[in-house]
Amino acid sequence: MSDIIDIAIIGGGPAGLTAALYGARARATTVVFETSLPGGQIITTDWIENYPGMPEGLNGSRIGELMHAHAEKFGARFKTFANVETLTADSGGFRIEADDESYLARTVILATGAVPSKLGIRGEAEYTGRGVSWCATCDGALYRGKVVAVIGGGDAALEEALFLTKFAERVHLVHRREEFRAAKCIQERCVANDKIELHLARVPVEIVGRDGKVSALILETPTGETAETIPVQGVFEFVGVHPNSELVKDLVELAVGGWVMVDKSMGTSYEGLFAAGDVTDTPLKQVVTAAGQGATAASEALRYLDSGVCTL
Ligand code: NAP
Repeated sequence: MSDIIDIAIIGGGPAGLTAALYGARARATTVVFETSLPGGQIITTDWIENYPGMPEGLNGSRIGELMHAHAEKFGARFKTFANVETLTADSGGFRIEADDESYLARTVILATGAVPSKLGIRGEAEYTGRGVSWCATCDGALYRGKVVAVIGGGDAALEEALFLTKFAERVHLVHRREEFRAAKCIQERCVANDKIELHLARVPVEIVGRDGKVSALILETPTGETAETIPVQGVFEFVGVHPNSELVKDLVELAVGGWVMVDKSMGTSYEGLFAAGDVTDTPLKQVVTAAGQGATAASEALRYLDSGVCTL
């Protein structure tokens, strides 16, 4: 691909795919670079029930497929399984190096999203892939008839705890405070589910194993006394996410935690470089907000291209 790209989008989740749709519909040369398949984090989400106009909800992977098809239909091009190694300012635009290929772009929309955080407790590294997981959709079916623990009190933890009840005989939901931060309707469903046992004001401190596999989770009280040891075969951690902003750390201003700071036009501190979705410092992290931000970023990128500021 030797032509100069009008809008290069790094990341193919809901923010990147919506930006691609808007860029391509405006007939800008629009290319999405995605490390795996289009869809982003939602690929690992079983059910999205708060995207407007879909009262029955839809599987996360399916939403990703539909958004991809929609953007492609209008002419967006995709570089899937592309690993963007560097993004630098070049000739009034941007240079992207990915898998030994070099691309020039007039504008860039960073939509690299966020990745699940780890607890960093004893046993976590040792038993990763041997009972410790960050993806219920990927690994849940391995726990049919077994007992698992889910750690966290946000939307992800409670939604995934509910999903895991499809397979597991018992799901221990462990949260470090008395109150969850997840949406109330999900809390109600967890409380009403017979398979879910709540462990509130309990801090996980160690994952224990036997014969190379997870066998138990040790919990303390918030004041540091040992509270209980729960026998489990799986531990699923959903304790927040952190941004994939490494690529732009020397180009743009980052907020505490590494989130990319954006203005209301989704512009970053570097002219011509926009950001959208979970990688940004905007507070609400949802499919609908990512899509809205992707649309804004693309429309502002188009405005920037029309303004003639970019000399590339
Ligand atoms: P989150 O909302 O940040 O919640 C993280 C949870 O993990 C919190 O309950 C937090 O406890 C707990 N936690 C953090 N560090 C911990 C530690 N060291 N030990 C024990 N517990 C710890 O993260 P999330 O649930 O992964 O969601 C990420 C974002 O995606 C959020 O904005 C969320 O709303 C969004 N999301 C939305 C949906 C949806 O709308 N359907 C689904 C999934 C995710 P505290 O509460 O005490 O801080």
